[in-house]
Amino acid sequence: MMSALGLAGVAGTAFMGIVAPSPAYATVKSLPQSWDGGSPDGTGYHGGVVPMAADNPSVVYYNQFCKKEDCGKCSTVCRDIQSVFDYWDPQVAEEIVCVHCGQCTAVCPGTNGTPAMRERNETAIVSDALANPDYHVIVQTAPATRVALGEEFGLSPGTWAEGQQVAALRMLGFDTVLDTNFTADLTIIEEASEFVSRVVNGTAPLPMFTSCCPSWVKFLEYFYPELLTHQSSCKSPQAMFGTLAKTYYAEVNGIDPEKIFSVAIMPCTAKKFEIQRDE
Ligand code: SF4
Ligand code: SF4
Repeated sequence: MMSALGLAGVAGTAFMGIVAPSPAYATVKSLPQSWDGGSPDGTGYHGGVVPMAADNPSVVYYNQFCKKEDCGKCSTVCRDIQSVFDYWDPQVAEEIVCVHCGQCTAVCPGTNGTPAMRERNETAIVSDALANPDYHVIVQTAPATRVALGEEFGLSPGTWAEGQQVAALRMLGFDTVLDTNFTADLTIIEEASEFVSRVVNGTAPLPMFTSCCPSWVKFLEYFYPELLTHQSSCKSPQAMFGTLAKTYYAEVNGIDPEKIFSVAIMPCTAKKFEIQRDE
């Protein structure tokens, strides 16, 4: 089981054998109420709420807190900054197109300080795992979260809060706290080796693109599928960690992999999407 908490929340779950949410996306036939279906300027951009599938693994839309047509910050950032919503014509997939970047959640003012667009909260899943004596709960933390955490608790921007983070996680009951930097190094080694193979042996096209960002991977799949062979075949650091937790870590510590609940504290909502991918 793997779960990833984003610092902008807790990111996702790639549970092996316990909970396995299906990444079945809503189709264009089941657009949510936030979609007005209109396009005042004829471009498809309506300036209102960006459409959000109810089962989006990264972002949840709360209609009751939305300013609707008076705002439109979510659809604007999605179209004009991320080049996703309504930027492309024609529609590229039979689903509500989203690369799970979470930028709409970052700009959403909501109502009375309560955002309408929020990252999917999975802390209850992790709390349940921590309370379950059958699980060995392991957590990885991305380096960016150690700085962001300090700001959340009033430390000055840039303060390195690694010690506080590790202590807090141990107090919460995590059995092991590890650093995603370890698998970031593994990713670099794997990518370098793949790059050399491409250059020396011509095993795949150049240039080679990184595959570490799940939003970038999804963006390419939607809009530039012809370039997918340029993408590295390596897993991201988060995904490599999850694999090692269930294999090497389990073997070294003599733990049944099915009993390991793997959590990731990440700075990005797309990590919630990544861990639910079939592959
Ligand atoms: S998560 Fe990113 S791609 Fe998806 S709707 Fe929000 S801004 Fe657009
Ligand atoms: S309040 Fe939030 S969800 Fe509603 S239109 Fe504005 S940015 Fe979008």
